[in-house]
This record gives sequence, structure tokens and C-alpha cells, in this order.
Amino acid sequence: MRGRQHWQCLAPLAPQARKRDDQQDPLSSLLPTPDARVSPDVLVVGAGPAGLALAAELGAQGLRTTLVGDAASIFTNNYGVWADEFQALGLEHTLEHVWGDAVCYFSEGRPTRVGRAYARVDRQKLRQHLVEACQANGVTFQPGEVVDVGVKNGTASVTCQDGSVLTARLVTLASGAAAGRFLKYESSAPAVAVQTAYGIEVEVAGYDEAFDPGRVFLEETCLVAKPALPFQTLKRRLERRCAALGLEIKEVHEEEWSYIPVGGPLPLADQPITAFGAAASLVHPATGYSLARSLREAKGVAAATAAALGSADSQRSVASRVWDALWSQERRKQAAFHIFGMELLCKMGVEPTAQFFTTFFSLPTRQWRGFLGSSLTSLQLLVFAGTTFVLAPLPIKVTRLVRHLVQDPAGKYLLRAYTRSSQEGSATEEAPGAATAAPRDSLPAA
Ligand SMILES: Cc1cc2nc3c(=O)[nH]c(=O)nc-3n(C[C@H](O)[C@H](O)[C@H](O)COP(=O)(O)OP(=O)(O)OC[C@H]3O[C@@H](n4cnc5c(N)ncnc54)[C@H](O)[C@@H]3O)c2cc1C
Repeated sequence: MRGRQHWQCLAPLAPQARKRDDQQDPLSSLLPTPDARVSPDVLVVGAGPAGLALAAELGAQGLRTTLVGDAASIFTNNYGVWADEFQALGLEHTLEHVWGDAVCYFSEGRPTRVGRAYARVDRQKLRQHLVEACQANGVTFQPGEVVDVGVKNGTASVTCQDGSVLTARLVTLASGAAAGRFLKYESSAPAVAVQTAYGIEVEVAGYDEAFDPGRVFLEETCLVAKPALPFQTLKRRLERRCAALGLEIKEVHEEEWSYIPVGGPLPLADQPITAFGAAASLVHPATGYSLARSLREAKGVAAATAAALGSADSQRSVASRVWDALWSQERRKQAAFHIFGMELLCKMGVEPTAQFFTTFFSLPTRQWRGFLGSSLTSLQLLVFAGTTFVLAPLPIKVTRLVRHLVQDPAGKYLLRAYTRSSQEGSATEEAPGAATAAPRDSLPAA
């Protein structure tokens, strides 16, 4: 089984994964251990936000569900979300701070007001909310690091680092980008790109914006690049930016190293195991975000899983039905469009990028908002493309958009996705060795 290989480049992120937080109790003290004599219906590997959300919804569907993950697994990332997306999910109580508007600068001294509230998630509260949902729905927790996944005679199994083997009717990987080694992907898509960010939560002096007194989270992000922009470069840029803003950093409370593989080939539907969250490529190629989408889609994917398992079909067709719920042909078209946008960003210099974003935020709100939230249909995305083309300055129109569509592999990928009928194509395409690797040589240790 061949997967895309970006999971191999996650080693530099050890400091992010090693973070500890005594306010987040180990899952083994929060969820019951499964009864070893009974195989669960579904094993969900990985207890990040996607794994917890899906496990809770699977439990709510009446499926016996066991989460498998690191005994010490906690939430370590600083999550930012659009406030309305969390409100729609009834998760306002997990937001730590909401800012009424977001302001972008695409050229010196000229702010663009986005007109949409942005929020920082309280990761302890979000985890607690999801754990409580798991508790309410009978989800069990088995500590373990999964090193192999297989399906034999209609039974799925995972092997853990300690040699123990767990079986179930279905295995779903929610183990983030690291899941790529167990999955099969399309063969004909542009290579994976990477979003990197370096952040610090600090006590500052000399700053008078409307933040909580003295304590702010500052992050330097490279939205997307091939190869990944190294952390040292981001850190140096952040230091220079702070100096230019006259910020005096008095104390660093926490550092964050964010490495998010984005874009790349989508998973194939024709494989006997399933995935969810970042593991299932739910990360938006042009933003690096997946949190709100994973939380939003957990219910529907759980319902599709329950229906598929209820049909007594073969393991492969159960998995295929779940994949189709996640990555229908329509969804694959939308993803091809997002990847097209991401690839365009990767290739633009500073000035065209600024012009492009100025155009982007001058689109009708529902269009740019829908693009960022993955909620535009493939047809609406074409309208989005047409409007962008009309509003974009001439050099962007001709030298960027048209050339990108006609000449770039991402343009061909997009056209293929839009012209493919629902009966053919990537859903059953084999991956003969073309699974593409993120460039990792350039990524230094954090
Ligand atoms: C630092 C950082 C900041 C981010 N900020 C945002 C943001 O602001 N907004 C947003 O929408 N997205 C953000 N993202 C992107 C994405 O939403 C997150 O990566 C999100 O955590 C993905 O959720 P997940 O549950 O799919 O995977 P993860 O959160 O990666 O969880 C995977 C879990 O699986 C476990 N695991 C991995 N391998 C195994 C194995 N072999 N066996 C058992 N368990 C395993 C891990 O320990 C982990 O607990 C960020 C990513 C990073 C790295």
C-alpha cells in the first residue's frame, strides 16, 4: 500500500507534539477502556479534534466505537476560526476570544477590513466539549500508537507499537497528516505543498491594540509554499516584524511550530480503510484550515458509516460508501478548484499576491466566504472564477489566471475533474507510484 510521503517530514514537529498541559487530563482517565472480548464496530485512530468529533457521532449512531491514540494525547495547537462557523456548530462556549473584524494589509499602510469576526479557540474547552460528547455516547479509549493497518477476511485490524492487535468491522484513520503512509491516493494530481507558521504567545510592552492586557499571540505564517518555508526564516521575519511595530517582548509563554501539508492528491475511494479530518485531506488547500469542516462533517460521515455498516456489504464497499460521503465526485471537483487556487498562490510573487488578495476580498462576501469555508458548489466556484476574472487587474488576468489554467498541471487537473463523469475517474484510480512527496529536505528542525 502506497501513501503520500509527507508524513515522513513531520519529525521536526516533535516540540509541538511534545507540549504538555496539566489542565488536559489523559484520555484513559476520561473514557472507559474497551471490553477486550468484544470487537467494536469502528476503531477510530487518533484523538485529535477530528477523531474525537467523529467517535462521538459514531457512538450517537449506536455504533460500538473505540478510539485508539497516544495515552498522553492532548490538544496543543492554537486554533483560529471564523466565529460564525463555530456559532453555527453551537460551539461559542469553546471560544477564548472573538474579534469583531479581521484586518488584512496587502500593501503598506492600507488596511482591508474583512467584515467577519475571527476567534481564537480555547483548546482545553474544545477538547472537554468533544470528550464529554464521547462520554455521553459510550465511546471507549484504547491507548496505543498504531504502526500497521490491515483488512483480512472482512475484518479490519490495527497493530500497535507494543505488538497488540485490535480488530473491528471498520478502521477510520483520524491521525492527521501522519495517516498518509496507510492510505492510497490519486496518481495524477499536483504535489503536496506546505503551510508553515511560527508563533509565540508573549507578554509585550509598547502595543496599544485591543488585546488582553499585555498577553498576545503572534504568528508569522507562510500560507503555502513548495518547498516549505523553514521555521528559522519565519522566526527571523517575526522578530523583524515585532521590531518594526515597536513591540518589546518581555516574556515568551509558549512557542508554536505549525507544519500543515496542503493540496496534493486526494485519497482513493477504492481502499478498505477510511479516514477523517486532516488524514482524509479535509484541510483547505488555500488556507490550511480543517477544524471547522471536520467538526461540521462528523455527523454526516458517522451517519454514512452507520448506513454502510448496516447494509452488510463487503468491507471494501462499506469503506467505499464512506469515502463517497467524504469525497463524492462533486467534492472532488471543488477540491480541484481549491488546489488550482493554491497552486496559483504558490507561484505568485509579492506584488501579484497583494493584487490577487485585494481582488479576492472585493468579491461579493458570499463568494470569498464560501471559498474559504469550502461551501461553494462546483458550479458556484465557476461563478466565483468568472467574477474574479472580471475584477482582477489586467496583468493578473492574462499572465496569471489564463496562463495558470492553460499551462499549469493544476489547470489540467481542474479541467479533468470538471469534465470527468461520476462513473469514472479518481474514485477508483490506482496510485502506481506517483503519490507525491512534500519537499522535506528544506525543513529544518524546529
Ligand atoms: C500548529 C498548528 C496550528 C493549526 N491551526 C489551525 C487553525 O488555526 N485552524 C484550523 O482550522 N486548522 C489549523 N491547523 C490545521 C488542522 O486543522 C489541525 O492540524 C487539526 O488539528 C487537524 O485535526 P485532526 O484531528 O484531523 O488531526 P490532529 O489534530 O493532527 O490529530 C491527530 C491525532 O492522531 C494521533 N496520531 C497520529 N499518529 C498516530 C498513530 N500512528 N497512532 C495513534 N494515534 C496517532 C496524534 O497524536 C493526534 O492526537 C493547525 C495545524 C497545526 C499543526
